[in-house]
Amino acid sequence: MELAICPVCKKQSLLLSMRTEEIPYFGKIIILTTRCENCKFKHADVFTVEIKEPLSYKIRVECEEDLNTKVIRSSSGTIIIPELGIKIEPGTHAQGFITNIEGILERIEKVLKFQLKTQKVKKLRKVKELLAKVEKMRNGKLGFTLILKDPFGNSGIISKKAKKRRLSKRELKNLKTGLIILEMTKK
Ligand SMILES: [Zn+2]
Repeated sequence: MELAICPVCKKQSLLLSMRTEEIPYFGKIIILTTRCENCKFKHADVFTVEIKEPLSYKIRVECEEDLNTKVIRSSSGTIIIPELGIKIEPGTHAQGFITNIEGILERIEKVLKFQLKTQKVKKLRKVKELLAKVEKMRNGKLGFTLILKDPFGNSGIISKKAKKRRLSKRELKNLKTGLIILEMTKK
């Protein structure tokens, strides 16, 4: 297998692998993963095979069962949880992943726990407050809203409960899309 140049260590030691998966009620997706044999750099992303419109998904999470809802987050997707005031935006290091709503809460928890160790004392109370909320959400004891916006329609919340709508022009303007994708759309 031919190796590509690693964006981090610049050696020709990057392994690429690609596979497709059929997601019911969403369509076929491509899962792309890269891994550097030399510096262990890893990147993953997901895309839809079909061309889709800019979409926003919204779901109200009310019980433990809702936490099992499948979520496809491409690197171009923005995740918002208004009750936490948290927004996960695309960026150069944004990864794509397939998970469920609990998996997203887990990721947020990890970041908050890291902040607990590194944040200045002034902000610690806020971080602790958020962690307590996330714990309640993970136990299905605190309802919340999950919004997922993707200008390319590569992301989605796979549930009958999720409300899907087209993003407005104004929303599209305000969404971050990630550097790599911006370059692609210039053409
Ligand atoms: Zn490398």
